[in-house]
Order: sequence, then C-alpha cells, then structure tokens
Amino acid sequence: MTIVYKRQIPVRHDVDVMVAGGGPAGIGAALAAARQGASVFLIDSQSCFGGMATAALVPSYFTLYSDGINLQAGGIASEIYQRLDARNGFGPGVDYRNPKDRWLPLRTEVLKCVFDEIVSEQKTLKFTFQTRLIDVETDGRRLTHAICAAKSGVFTVRARQFIDCTGDGDLAAWAGAAFEKGNGDGLLQPGTLCTAWTDIDWFKVQSSGLSAEAEIQRAITDGVFSVADPHLPGIHQTGRHTGTGNIGHTFGVDNTDEVSLTKALIHGRRITQEYQRFYREYLKGYEHMELVTTGALLGVRETRRVLGDYVLNLDDYQKRAVFVDEIGRYSYPIDVHPAQPTAENLAQFEYEYEQMRYQPGESYGIPLRSLIVRDLDNVLVAGRCVSCDRYIQGSIRVGTGCYITGQAAGVAAALAAQTRHELRAIDARQVQSRLVELGAYLPNV
Ligand SMILES: Cc1cc2nc3c(=O)[nH]c(=O)nc-3n(C[C@H](O)[C@H](O)[C@H](O)COP(=O)(O)OP(=O)(O)OC[C@H]3O[C@@H](n4cnc5c(N)ncnc54)[C@H](O)[C@@H]3O)c2cc1C
Repeated sequence: MTIVYKRQIPVRHDVDVMVAGGGPAGIGAALAAARQGASVFLIDSQSCFGGMATAALVPSYFTLYSDGINLQAGGIASEIYQRLDARNGFGPGVDYRNPKDRWLPLRTEVLKCVFDEIVSEQKTLKFTFQTRLIDVETDGRRLTHAICAAKSGVFTVRARQFIDCTGDGDLAAWAGAAFEKGNGDGLLQPGTLCTAWTDIDWFKVQSSGLSAEAEIQRAITDGVFSVADPHLPGIHQTGRHTGTGNIGHTFGVDNTDEVSLTKALIHGRRITQEYQRFYREYLKGYEHMELVTTGALLGVRETRRVLGDYVLNLDDYQKRAVFVDEIGRYSYPIDVHPAQPTAENLAQFEYEYEQMRYQPGESYGIPLRSLIVRDLDNVLVAGRCVSCDRYIQGSIRVGTGCYITGQAAGVAAALAAQTRHELRAIDARQVQSRLVELGAYLPNV
C-alpha cells in the first residue's frame, strides 16, 4: 500500500554546491569547494563531522603516504592531520609525518573539534548537524533540490552541483542513478560496531608477547564466541590506559536497510561482551578492561557503488593505471572483508590483502570520471561509494582515499558551478591544476 504525501516546503538554502554527508569525503569536498570561492551547504545526520572516524568510533586513520613514500593525501587531509597532531589528537608514540607509521590511532573527541574549527573558518561554507537527506527533486538528468529533515522540520536545498558523500550513495540512488551492491550474490562486507575501552595496561600488553590474532583461535575452540570469526583487526592504543577497538563483525548487514541495520547494532552490542571476555581471559594487560561506549553509528565498510562515467577496476589496480584525467593516486591494498567467516573466504582475503599488495612507490590513478555520476548531469560522488568494482572499493574506501576523492569532487563541482558549465564540459586539466595548488599528489600531470 502507498499514499501520496504532498506538502509545501521552504527552500532554505540556495548555493553553488551542496554536499550530503560529512565524513572524510564530505569534509574534503565541502572545504575544497569553499576554498575555490563557491557557496557551499554541507549536512550530516549525526552530531559531528567525521563519519566513520568519529560517530562510528573507527579507531585509526591510515597514513597520508599510502605508497610508503609520497604524500598521496596532500591538501585537506594533510591539513587535518597537522591540526590533529597539534592538539595531540593521535594516540601515543606515532608520528603522522613518518610514512612507516601506517596506522594512526585517533582521539575521537579531538578530531571532532578539529572538524568544527576547520569548517567554521570557511566563510562561504554553511553547515548543520542532525540534518538528514531524505529525498531529492529532479528535472530530467538534473538534480534540482535536496530535501532534508532536521529539528525545524522538512526543507529543501537548491544547488547548481551536488556531491554525494553519504557513504551509501543515498543522494545519487534516490535521484535515479544506477549502482551496484556487494558481490554477485548481493553479499556485502560485514560491518563492525567499534568500541572504546579503558583500564588497559598497555605496558603489560606490549611486554606479554601475546597477540590477540594468535589467541583468538583458542577462544573460538573454547566456545567463547557465538560466531566463529578468526578475523580480528584489534584494539588501538589511544591514551595511557585507553584504546579503541575494531573487533568483531556484523555479517549480513546492509546499511541501506534499517531493519538489517537494527539487527546488526543489537548483534554488535551483544558480541562486545564476548570480546571483553576474550581479551580479559586470554590476553595479558586487559584483565581489568571496561567498555566505555560503542559507536553511535555502525562501522560500515560497503554498500552501494554508484556507477560513474568510468568504473575503476581490478585491471587498473594491477596495471598501476595512469589516467589523463586523474585526480589522485592511491596504494592501499585490496581489503575486502569476507562476507562470511569461512576458511576459504579468509584465505582469499589474505591472498588479496597480502599477495596483491603494491611495492613501495607503486599506485593506481583515480580518474575524475569515476566521480561523475553516469546517469545525472550535476552530481558527483566521493568516498566509499565512488564508481569502482569491489576490489577497488576495498582499497579506496579507506579514510585517505575518501579525502582524495572528496577534495577532487569539491574542486570539480565548484568549477562547474562558477563557470556555469556542465560537469562533463569542465576541463580536467583545470581541475588538476587547482588540485595541485591545494597540495594534491598528481605526479603524472
Ligand atoms: C570498522 C571499520 C574500520 C575502519 N578502519 C579504518 C582505519 O583504520 N583507517 C582508515 O583510514 N579507514 C578505516 N576505515 C574506513 C573509513 O573509515 C571509511 O570507509 C570512511 O570513513 C568512509 O568515508 P566516507 O566519507 O565515504 O563515509 P563516512 O565516513 O561513512 O561518512 C558518511 C557521512 O554521511 C552521513 N550520512 C549518511 N547518510 C546521510 C543522509 N542520508 N543524510 C545526511 N547525512 C548522511 C553520515 O552520518 C556520515 O557522517 C574503517 C571502516 C570501518 C567500517
């Protein structure tokens, strides 16, 4: 059964560029567009910016130097890392300027403040939290209005260009863009409900010589877990006695379906107790660990991949592809968490992650075309839902990859809005030269 729902709603913002979602992609996009002089409206459904890294408590940021040598995430990402470091926002003992420090544990509350500060400084950038995109209005291939719901009610945003940084491709999909989802059977990577812990004795953890990855098999055999899942990314140290955990998986979740998401959140909270028991009883230094909180958002690795003018793919990864319209280069390995924790799936995961990884200095190019939504004329997509196959999604979805695509989408959208050109009519070389000015790594330009 359906009903017709009709209302008059105000156009509350009329801007050059609207960005939906304020994770790394959305922050990169909104700041880059505003720094080109565009008027920008940025929304996020949560109470802070940062997406997975803040609201979902994802424990760390990946290095800016994903190829181990070059500052591939130069520009907005490196500025955020710099500001975060200046406020002691990374966990102890890591140096974000050192390419050897691959994983940089995050002090989440500091990161939230860095985002508040950096977006507030930008005069042409307006934003609101607790503002959810709920629908869109289109005119043929053009998106005309984004419909949002917030505490004041429902309103619309009119914009010349839109950037979908929702992670799930909500805006593009609701505007009618084609997308792909999951593997051939529609199965997606599992999520993880991330966790913050206290009362960990890190000195004892490090001096014990024990590793959670090695001990978990024993605990599985002993029946500690309701799901036998040996794939354990682990807990990162964030302070003297604190840590943030990327532990446990929610298999079968689809973040674009609230029924599925609700089940996953409940499951995630339940297995947290099992992991607490495992860490306390099988490892040293965790005997007194206490759970502080779980993420407000489920940690989501994969949902829609919006189809763009180009679909970046495994062949490009293997060729270390160079594109004339490339807007960045990236090197994070293929990291597709198994949809089900079978031995066969785990062996496949390990093969892709370990055996197919690049040598230092190697990378693949990301073409501007993979950010331009194929079925629409004024919509770009950035972040974990860009146009790519599942292998590339498993790489580009990592934080710095999302900053790179976000920043480029912001520059392209601003350029199109300001010059009144269609997205496809803008000169990729102009986007590239503006990106280089922002600090992007574009060695082939
Ligand atoms: C468990 C886990 C561990 C990870 N570990 C790491 C790691 O160690 N290092 C690393 O660099 N990366 C890591 N990642 C990857 C990385 O954090 C994410 O893939 C990345 O944050 C995706 O960025 P994004 O901007 O595309 O989306 P997100 O970070 O998901 O941001 C999307 C934003 O859009 C908002 N939004 C969504 N829908 C709407 C809507 N309809 N209306 C309004 N707002 C909306 C959300 O609230 C959110 O803030 C991890 C991911 C997971 C799940």
